[in-house]
Amino acid sequence: MANIIDGKKIAAEVREEVKREVAELKARGVTPGLAVILVGDDPASQVYVRNKHRACEEVGIYSEVHRLAAETSQDALLKLIAQLNNNPKIHGILVQLPLPDHIDEKKVIDAIALNKDVDGFSPANVGNLVIGDECFYPCTPHGCMVLLDKIGVDPRGKKAVVVGRSNIVGKPMAMMLLARHATVTVCHSRTRDLAAECRQADILVAAVGKPELITGDMIKEGAVVIDVGINRMPDGKLVGDVHFESASQKASWITPVPGGVGPMTIAMLLKNTVEAARRA
Ligand code: NAD
Repeated sequence: MANIIDGKKIAAEVREEVKREVAELKARGVTPGLAVILVGDDPASQVYVRNKHRACEEVGIYSEVHRLAAETSQDALLKLIAQLNNNPKIHGILVQLPLPDHIDEKKVIDAIALNKDVDGFSPANVGNLVIGDECFYPCTPHGCMVLLDKIGVDPRGKKAVVVGRSNIVGKPMAMMLLARHATVTVCHSRTRDLAAECRQADILVAAVGKPELITGDMIKEGAVVIDVGINRMPDGKLVGDVHFESASQKASWITPVPGGVGPMTIAMLLKNTVEAARRA
């Protein structure tokens, strides 16, 4: 039976670490600051933005939320980003996605100054991640790496399989595991034999968005299983991309959903914001 990776507890530890780091920076006269921009009134985005703001307040990070109407022009949004790029009180800038259709998401993300891109989604930051230069680790895969570290699993030399190749999770996850010397395979919707690939994994990361796609028979005995998926079922229940019950018969460690990777994402955003302030 697998050990459970308690993301809630580990995220709380990270937030405590951040709180101490913020206090140290404040003692040196620097208050880390995060600006979050929300365009439109998507209900899920509103909840995310509120949670991010609250999390900042709890650890002593200055945070400002810019709520813009759905019909805000791209130019107005770019102007605001330019102002924030030049604002010394702000160390991190985050644009909550998705943006309304009339706005070019890529252009907007690319406008965020590289040293303030705490989400890590800009092409320049991604390039630095691939090269292995100083960069911000995108928050969700960064959270997965911290979970591995906290349970004492070193990726070095291990076979890691990442299922999903999105720009926000799968691809950066693969790069981070590679940087930590794992042998990495990335699987996706066109992978021919997903089960056979997964069975090779010492570390298996699922970031697909398909409820319980990965079942116990696809997991190697003793593997570490990190489930990024968050899927809401018709009955309102949240499940991951991994079938928890069967997978935990085989894995040595496994994240639950909810309470695994989920709580880590905001914690890592706080961490990145402090890092941005420290570099500034
Ligand atoms: P996405 O839709 O952008 O990407 C999904 C990936 O899965 C694609 O690369 C696709 O090729 C692959 N895929 C689809 N079907 C497949 C199949 N049958 N076999 C193998 N691969 C397949 O999704 P995303 O944004 O990367 O998110 C993935 C999941 O992680 C979602 O459930 C999302 O809600 C969750 N998520 C959680 C957090 C968090 O915990 N904070 C953050 C981001 C995403």
